[in-house]
Amino acid sequence: MPGTKKPSGTDETAASARKRNAPSAKGGGGPREYMKDFAHGRDTLFCQSCGFNMRRDPDFGTEADGTLTEQWCSGCYHDGAFAEEVDSADAFIHAAVQRIAAQRKQAIGKTRLDLKKELPKLARWA
Ligand SMILES: [Zn+2]
Repeated sequence: MPGTKKPSGTDETAASARKRNAPSAKGGGGPREYMKDFAHGRDTLFCQSCGFNMRRDPDFGTEADGTLTEQWCSGCYHDGAFAEEVDSADAFIHAAVQRIAAQRKQAIGKTRLDLKKELPKLARWA
């Protein structure tokens, strides 16, 4: 999706707004810019372990060397290892439903039902 902002109002207003914003384009991004760009411009990324929709750098899991992975979320995967080392979706739900319910701000029962439906579509459990 192109990030074209459409300020409301006349063209003149839009033009002057653009002008005003141009010089304040944030510089000195460095690593932060990279982190922000990790999700930017990609298709919507879902954790392939729990289905979490990852949007910002803290959402992404990390490899052992600290690089981000687009495949897993930070809750499921960090420092190159899964938080729940299990080999079936059922075992995962049992082990992870509490943390995922908290993450989704949902009741545990509803989260468990949702996960039963969602997990079979994800790469880790396919
Ligand atoms: Zn996850």
